[in-house]
Amino acid sequence: MAAMRIAVLSDVHSNIEALDAVLEDAGAEGVVVLGDIVGYNADPVAVLKRLHDVDALLIAGNHDLAAVNRFDVRWFNPVAAQAVRWTATQLDPAAFEGLAHLEPSAWWNGRLLVHGSVREPAVEYVRDELAAAASFAAADFDVGFHGHTHVPAAFMAGPAGVVEAPVGDGTRIEFEKGLRYFLNPGSVGQPRDGDPRAAYVILEESAAEWRRVEYDVTSAMRKIRESGLPDVLADRLEVGR
Ligand code: ZN
Repeated sequence: MAAMRIAVLSDVHSNIEALDAVLEDAGAEGVVVLGDIVGYNADPVAVLKRLHDVDALLIAGNHDLAAVNRFDVRWFNPVAAQAVRWTATQLDPAAFEGLAHLEPSAWWNGRLLVHGSVREPAVEYVRDELAAAASFAAADFDVGFHGHTHVPAAFMAGPAGVVEAPVGDGTRIEFEKGLRYFLNPGSVGQPRDGDPRAAYVILEESAAEWRRVEYDVTSAMRKIRESGLPDVLADRLEVGR
């Protein structure tokens, strides 16, 4: 039997061009999304519908919670807050309902999924080994996934403590006994590591592989400008920041 391939996505942020490119590239049997499905970009309803159509397992990010009034936009910077308010005006009842019940963490097939961190699933950024160590300590998981930073990353905990391993396009990590893993696929819809290509991870039974995919950035940028969202949200897609 062929190994099960799951596409692990995060921070899709209403970017349907990027999502479709990733789904096509992945050819996966299953899809999980680590939150921030909406916000920033111009296609919240199309993204929610596509993820529903592929039967994706979804958790909520801070932008998703804010779009359905479960998180105060006061905590957002002005551009992000403006995008949240715009997103809320776009959601039809089905889209609203699709977001309204999501939580920022979930267990899935023995893997722990969180948006930000294990300690504070909706809001904390895990950008370094210290923050990763707190997440390893906060729950008993061997393999966990997080997003929120929009930067691909891999943290491993073992006898030597917590270490970060560099990851890039094509990096593959085979899970070893005695080690624990807290992995970030990067962002599908708004990468911030200087590479504008959509980022995601393919998860197999005992390995994870980081991937980058080109998509129609020009179309996503044009829709942002036409929608009345802040221009800076279009500009940043082009440079991946
Ligand atoms: Zn995000």
